[in-house]
Amino acid sequence: MNNWSKFIESVSEKNIKVSKLDAPLKDVSGIVRNVPYIIYPKNKEEIQFILKFANQYLVKIYPISCGKNWGFGSSLPSENDTIVVNLKDFNSILDIDLENGHAIVTPGVTQEQLANALKNTPYFVDVTGSSADSSLIGNALERGIAYNSLRVENISELEVMLPNGNTINTGFSSLNDKNTSNYPWGIGPSLDGLFFQSNFGIVTQAKIKLIKRTLNAKSFCVTLKNEKDLFLFISSLKPLLENNLINCIPHIFNKERFYPGMAPLLWKYFQNIQQEKSREEILHIFNKQFNGEWFVAGNLRGINAQINLGAKYLKKITPSSSKLQFIGAKEKTLIKIIKKLPFFNELKAFIYATDELGDLTCGNPTNLTLPSINWVMPGNEKSLFDLDIDRCGDGGFLYFTPMSNYTQYDISLLLRTTMQVASKFYLVPAITLNAIKADIMEGVISVAFNKHNASEVENAHKCIKEMNKTMIDLNLLPYRNNIDMMDTITFQKDYASTLMKLKQIFDPNHILSNGRYIPTEESSNKLSKFAA
Ligand SMILES: Cc1cc2nc3c(=O)[nH]c(=O)nc-3n(C[C@H](O)[C@H](O)[C@H](O)COP(=O)(O)OP(=O)(O)OC[C@H]3O[C@@H](n4cnc5c(N)ncnc54)[C@H](O)[C@@H]3O)c2cc1C
Repeated sequence: MNNWSKFIESVSEKNIKVSKLDAPLKDVSGIVRNVPYIIYPKNKEEIQFILKFANQYLVKIYPISCGKNWGFGSSLPSENDTIVVNLKDFNSILDIDLENGHAIVTPGVTQEQLANALKNTPYFVDVTGSSADSSLIGNALERGIAYNSLRVENISELEVMLPNGNTINTGFSSLNDKNTSNYPWGIGPSLDGLFFQSNFGIVTQAKIKLIKRTLNAKSFCVTLKNEKDLFLFISSLKPLLENNLINCIPHIFNKERFYPGMAPLLWKYFQNIQQEKSREEILHIFNKQFNGEWFVAGNLRGINAQINLGAKYLKKITPSSSKLQFIGAKEKTLIKIIKKLPFFNELKAFIYATDELGDLTCGNPTNLTLPSINWVMPGNEKSLFDLDIDRCGDGGFLYFTPMSNYTQYDISLLLRTTMQVASKFYLVPAITLNAIKADIMEGVISVAFNKHNASEVENAHKCIKEMNKTMIDLNLLPYRNNIDMMDTITFQKDYASTLMKLKQIFDPNHILSNGRYIPTEESSNKLSKFAA
């Protein structure tokens, strides 16, 4: 019996759910990994057994929370021949504290699960544009970005099971007489940072900070005519962010990103009312409403005076050739009336789309951002609303996420470089600029391809790899990377060796998520050979 079989036998004896895979796993980016088994523990005790047996039989394991890390490797491990530990069934909301505004959750808790639990309460959980079924903890561990905040700033008091089976708690929860507190750093060294984008432990629970709902919050959408308007808008937005007049993360999409997001929903609306429209007709309808090249989505929250002031300034900074729209309580009442009318179908199609997508900014997660992945592959209409985007349809994509300073120079360098590199590979990039702080702009760049066409997959991967390399040379550094491009990150020698020493301390048998962010002996030898 080989080590995998012995390991699986021991795990199965503990009644932990195991599924055996007969073929390699493929993801939406066309990445393939040999994953012999997936294990589904439901609680801490089961995770502890898995770690114990993995150490005993020297089996490599890779924990995921819900495995929706699309564009970065989905649920695949960094290395081949690794057993995936899927924590989706370990999904309890352990506490919701409506006085202090936080929730304590385990890794399988999804955006939707917590959002539903918070309905009709004074708080909401900030959500990302990824699916309603993605994990709060998984996204935070990748330092994901939501519509109003950085996940990493909203998560604290991690409970982490180390590869030796011991559990540690961070922040104030590390104290003997622990007391729940909203102060996230605790006292003494703060170990939280060690467990983000790393492979030193399995996070088994965490505290998530919630956001207070405000009565008259308004979503906004700005349609910017062209790139000149984009830069005018971005530069005038900066002082509004600096002065907290806008306290969300405005998401700024190019048309290649925004249109595929809206189009499938418009298409579906007309299909539902038995007035099917062709792709050309959908584009025409879209262009009538959103006649521009760039689109900004965000929301205004706060006391009424703040919202009114924010709205006033947004009007002021929207260039005259561009268009600003709000959806607040007043507009929602009007929408309710329009929905009941037997005509205005085009308008009602947009209402259907914005009802779903516009509410993301207020903590209502949706699965309806996913159809964009297959929309860009004409002929895939049947698969549009299938949520398993790793498997359904031909639509494939890959992300690259560089961070830029919030200056016109750096942002235009980011955009120019993106276009130059993508055009070398005959690809048209979808771009989102997220104004995450008044001094930081995040770029989310993706290229689309047919994931079942080997040469398209290869071309797209080469493109994203070159983008990685080119932008790193320009100091536009990715904050996160896909599992196939870990080697584009090169830490300074001493930093790399410190990370490797820490890995040795936490995980001496190297059983956990090898190759994920932390360099290995092999990768650092390769690098020093290059340097020689
Ligand atoms: C249309 C679309 C929109 C998207 N929008 C966004 C967006 O707005 N913001 C954003 O950030 N992302 C976005 N994404 C990317 C991605 O889908 C999300 O980041 C998603 O939340 C990640 O999947 P997950 O939450 O299920 O995490 P997982 O896939 O479960 O986890 C991610 C990684 O974290 C590590 N990990 C997970 N759980 C544990 C654990 N318990 N212990 C130790 N390590 C662990 C593993 O390395 C794992 O691979 C989008 C994707 C698509 C397709």
